[in-house]
Amino acid sequence: MDVRETLQALQDGKGPEVADVETLLTARGSDEQALFAAAREKRDRQFGNKLYAYGFVYFSTYCQNNCTFCYFRHTNDIDRYRKTPAEIYELAADLKDAGIDLVDLTMGEDPQMYADDYAELLDIVARVHSLGISIMCSPGAVRKDVFPRLKAAGGNFYAVYQETHNRALFAQRRIGQDYDFRANQRKWAHEAGMLAEDGMMCGIGESLRDRAETILAMGAEGCEQIRAMAFVPQAGTPMVGNALGSSEDEIRCIAVMRLLFPDRLIPATLDVEGTEGMKKRLNAGANVITSIVVPKRHLAGVAQPEKDIENGSRSVEHVFSLVEQMGKKVATQQEYASFIAGLQAKRAVPLH
Ligand code: SF4
Repeated sequence: MDVRETLQALQDGKGPEVADVETLLTARGSDEQALFAAAREKRDRQFGNKLYAYGFVYFSTYCQNNCTFCYFRHTNDIDRYRKTPAEIYELAADLKDAGIDLVDLTMGEDPQMYADDYAELLDIVARVHSLGISIMCSPGAVRKDVFPRLKAAGGNFYAVYQETHNRALFAQRRIGQDYDFRANQRKWAHEAGMLAEDGMMCGIGESLRDRAETILAMGAEGCEQIRAMAFVPQAGTPMVGNALGSSEDEIRCIAVMRLLFPDRLIPATLDVEGTEGMKKRLNAGANVITSIVVPKRHLAGVAQPEKDIENGSRSVEHVFSLVEQMGKKVATQQEYASFIAGLQAKRAVPLH
């Protein structure tokens, strides 16, 4: 089947197979536009004109791991920072005041945050929770018993990206890390009553089939949020000489994820192409804008630390006005909180 036939078959209720997903990922030209239009229609039917806006607070750039694609890998000789709980609270308060729906508390796998039985990490989550804003916890891979405590501290979401569901490629890219321990993070988050996010990276050596299988695997995990992001070569890493991942590939993955899993939250990241790329991703069916930052605070992001941050064009006001120009509206914090409370309530229901 070609792209149009595959789109039609899926619309008619055919269950997606790996070959179907591969076909859709090859869409170009008018076929690609048809894919994007179908994805937008699925999103709008599910979510109306509402989009969600996330801001992140990247509070520690220390990491014990050595992922080959990551600027913050342990052996990269870079300046690092670790923000104090008071600074983190202040940054989160700024995002809350600006009307952002969720604060993503992100760090490398910083041993200091894991010390004393994760005391500092749990304290940070509890402090930010006291602001009355939804929280995504992105602290890397942690022990199973930590999840109920993160939930009790106020964490709503747990984000940990596999990047690929090809085990051999995972071993090459996330050197020395346990595939199953990482995959289990999302399962443990669900068991604790949290929501979960998985993500894939485009351009780290995966085949088209790997991409298709990863999309299907992410959907099958039941994660409420799934994402794709293009690889960006980082200075000082083993992959600095690799080609830049294709944004077009990332955007096609977004469209296919939306088509196959209409009810999921799917981010349009500002990390790879800034606000220019945000519109393209929303046009492919994304419904969450991520990585909005408070300007002039010198926060870093995992992909491109400097991308549009210092000139303020990733600031809240600018992003919200672009959304309105597209005929969409960013949900209020209350609307978003009610939406994810509904998702968490569903999580609490046994699946058998
Ligand atoms: S991707 Fe995450 S775990 Fe891997 S080196 Fe970077 S910060 Fe650490």
